[in-house]
Amino acid sequence: MLSTMQDVPLTVTRILTHGMTIHGKSQVTTWTGEPEPQRRTFAEVGRRAAQLAHALRDELGVDGDQRVATLLWNNSEHIEAYLSVPSMGAVLHPLNVRLPAEQLIWVVGHADDKVVIVNGSLLPLLGPLLPRLPSVEHVIVAGPGDRSVLAGAAPRVHEYEELIAGRPTTYDWPELDERQAAAMCYTSGTTGDPKGVIYSHRSIYLHSMQVNMAESMGLSVKDTTLVVVPQFHVNAWGLPHAAFMSGINMLMPDRFLQPVPLAEMIERERPTHAAAVPTIWQGLLAEVTANPRDLSSMARVTIGGAACPPALMAAYDKLGVRLCHAWGMTETSPVGTMSSPPAGLTAEEEWPYRITQGRFPAGVEARLVGPGGEHLPWDNRSAGELEVRGPWIAAAYYGGSDGEVLRPDDKFSEDGWLKTGDVGVISDEGFLTLTDRAKDVIKSGGEWISSFELENALMAHPDVAEAAVIAVPDDKWGERPLATVVLKEGATADYQALRAFLGRTVAEWQLPERWTVIPAVPKTSVGKFDKKVIRKQYADGELDVTRL
Ligand code: AMP
Repeated sequence: MLSTMQDVPLTVTRILTHGMTIHGKSQVTTWTGEPEPQRRTFAEVGRRAAQLAHALRDELGVDGDQRVATLLWNNSEHIEAYLSVPSMGAVLHPLNVRLPAEQLIWVVGHADDKVVIVNGSLLPLLGPLLPRLPSVEHVIVAGPGDRSVLAGAAPRVHEYEELIAGRPTTYDWPELDERQAAAMCYTSGTTGDPKGVIYSHRSIYLHSMQVNMAESMGLSVKDTTLVVVPQFHVNAWGLPHAAFMSGINMLMPDRFLQPVPLAEMIERERPTHAAAVPTIWQGLLAEVTANPRDLSSMARVTIGGAACPPALMAAYDKLGVRLCHAWGMTETSPVGTMSSPPAGLTAEEEWPYRITQGRFPAGVEARLVGPGGEHLPWDNRSAGELEVRGPWIAAAYYGGSDGEVLRPDDKFSEDGWLKTGDVGVISDEGFLTLTDRAKDVIKSGGEWISSFELENALMAHPDVAEAAVIAVPDDKWGERPLATVVLKEGATADYQALRAFLGRTVAEWQLPERWTVIPAVPKTSVGKFDKKVIRKQYADGELDVTRL
């Protein structure tokens, strides 16, 4: 029997029209570095999104599912593009501003981007690449910055404000198929070429509802979210779309991502929610420890993208800021888990739940797979690779404009689940604790050592700013951990002391005997520890390793 319910497509267009009417007074505030930030209401942003669509269609001839790329910071124009491009039926492609030039060129070519909307401040990055971006026919420049690098460029150059000025503020949005492509993001590509994930209107709609749910980010019209996570990193973890659904105000940092301006915008604008990777919160913590600021408006902060050290969580608790741990991937839109402890617990009882990666929402099914392909029990002990499936989880990668998709065996199971490459355990209540990336696990004498566990334990030492642990070859055990440590200024701890400190929480046989102090942990383009760089430094003999 078929249902008797209406079948209304779940589209970004509906998110846009809902946000700009029902939540028309909510605001997008963009930091400008000037005494006053730029403020636009959702209604204004929606009208400008319509003007942008007219410009793209009438002036630039964007049609069908052509790709419109953005090389933009987190700001109002970027949100306008987020809403406008998919709603007109085209595909939004946010570009990672920190990708190495060669990868950026590869990604633009692979996606066949026709248009790039770029911030003026990022022209020094884009300008020199243009001769190698043959698919790009138009460049639209928004905001301040020296335009001279564009002199003689092959694509036509437009000024964002001039381009949209005077155009109609409503648009006759087409009725789209909800399964159609709306946006695409490439993985940050720690191995091989980046892989393109194409989000559908439906996946974005359903994911946005999940983001808003109380047990996820719990966004409300009464709140303001500080969107630090870049819009090119998995659609800013879905925040802009979710915000247009729930009406939460957005505070956008633009290019001011350093600890000092972040601290200033938090103190002045008093956001109640924020989202970013641990590196950002580590940097901010160091800043406010040296120069105290009031961050306490941020009742909840979503932290993910890399494991959150429990010591960081504890430090922010003292500032009145609650870090809520989440796990996800470009392939999972990204919300995969969120850590929200069960009801009725004291703060102390909540702690073991808070430091896990969290629980799976209804839209994400999970299973753990052992080395022989067997499915492991959820007993919080059996460690295996996490596989997931659901309506906002990728089923394949973009294979290029011939319409092919890629389903590599190491990424997708035969029965269609996504192989995450993350290793961990799951409790009987569904709380996930990750212990490693599959490729980072330290296999010592047939047993696995968790690099996350060693790093978290090290980062709880008062003298340690950051620590990354990698596997290095060992004649006797196959592999052993190498601890690379960044010490805080004025630190006195030596390796023996650090090892003894680790020994308080970590089993003796897992303690590293190889140690080195490094000036900073190398980071990927999205701010995660880049262990492949450390592995290479070790292999090339560049690290001064002490053996205890
Ligand atoms: P990306 O696609 O760049 O967002 O990277 C996704 C990967 O980041 C995941 O597969 C994990 O390895 C890692 N990751 C994300 N969130 C967490 C977390 N909370 N704890 C540990 N690793 C994480």
